[in-house]
Amino acid sequence: MPKILIIEDEEAVRENILDLLEAEDFETIAAANGRIGIHLAISEVPDLILCDMMMPEIDGYGVLTTLRQEASTATIPFIFLTAKSAKSDFRQGMDMGADDYITKPFTRSELLSAIMNRLEKYATLKRYLSPQTVIKSLSPKMQLLEISLHRAIKQYNFQEFEIYYQPIVDIASGKIVGAESLLRWQSPELGMIYPTEFIPLAESTGLIIPIGKWVLKRVCKQIKSWRNAGINSLMVAVNLSVIEFNQPDFIHNVVNFISVNNLEPDDLELELTESMIMQDVNSAIATMSKLQSLGVKIAIDDFGTGYSSLIYLKNLPINTLKIDRYFIHNVANDSQKSAIAKALIQMAHNLNLDVVAEGVETEAELGFLRQHKCNSMQGFLFSRPLPAAEFEKFFFH
Ligand SMILES: [Mg+2]
Repeated sequence: MPKILIIEDEEAVRENILDLLEAEDFETIAAANGRIGIHLAISEVPDLILCDMMMPEIDGYGVLTTLRQEASTATIPFIFLTAKSAKSDFRQGMDMGADDYITKPFTRSELLSAIMNRLEKYATLKRYLSPQTVIKSLSPKMQLLEISLHRAIKQYNFQEFEIYYQPIVDIASGKIVGAESLLRWQSPELGMIYPTEFIPLAESTGLIIPIGKWVLKRVCKQIKSWRNAGINSLMVAVNLSVIEFNQPDFIHNVVNFISVNNLEPDDLELELTESMIMQDVNSAIATMSKLQSLGVKIAIDDFGTGYSSLIYLKNLPINTLKIDRYFIHNVANDSQKSAIAKALIQMAHNLNLDVVAEGVETEAELGFLRQHKCNSMQGFLFSRPLPAAEFEKFFFH
């Protein structure tokens, strides 16, 4: 829970605020004067400071001025508490960099809403600033990874990258109906690097934008060349990053790559995770609806591990549900997993969605999925992800 520092010389007021905040589960620290308050702010670095304006020795202005000069405390949200409601006091406090101002006596809800507002704004701000902070504190290995990633993109123009394709198989017919594209990076210095390692770094540095665009472009080109080779009705799935998905020109790029390669929009399926959608549900739904209305398919990836937003699911413009490998592993022998997998398949079918099981590794797992009418599957039981040329051979064998 957020940590709040209360600097207030009147004991009754201080105790009252402490009780109130503790009842709301905030972590609290209290100071009876400005000097102790400054000391605690610097040593404890709270998430928010409530400070009385009128105090002997160092008053509220003095506390604020001192804390704004310290790097570690300069941005902590600061709310003045005051008995005065004079406009000049309010102005002076705000001019010195206070974030808000509450006049005593205040109600519980006034205090809480001021606190929540500030904490929310601060959290948003921190999220924007954190990528830079993260890079500064990167380990030597991560620094090397970052330098190599930069070079692989800007200098070597993606030559070290390759897209692998894992077949997606229709369970009833045994035919390959699709493929999930998976990015691999073969770095001369670092060896094979998986997306789980470099995607977070790409996201924090913004490199995810050129990477995502490159993947989409390459995949569309690949679908075209497979069509020319006689592979029809193969849907290729592309994993998206939330940053890429939220780019203003994202839809435009998708449409462009489809049209220059003469593809059908439903040759392409875009995979989103629950957490990506939940970050901003309304804007995500708007983008998804637009894509779907153009004919592009949308899948929810790794389903079941995130927010498990079953209620939202019915409002989402999606075509496919991909059940996370966690629920598939040992599903035939684990009664809890089998109950969940069964329910997910049934629910998806009620919503007219296709269901793909991820990470299928054994005949027993496949047997379970077949019995419960899961539409398709991918996993080592059928094939690992393959380079494009091998995928093509595999398709025709
Ligand atoms: Mg995926």
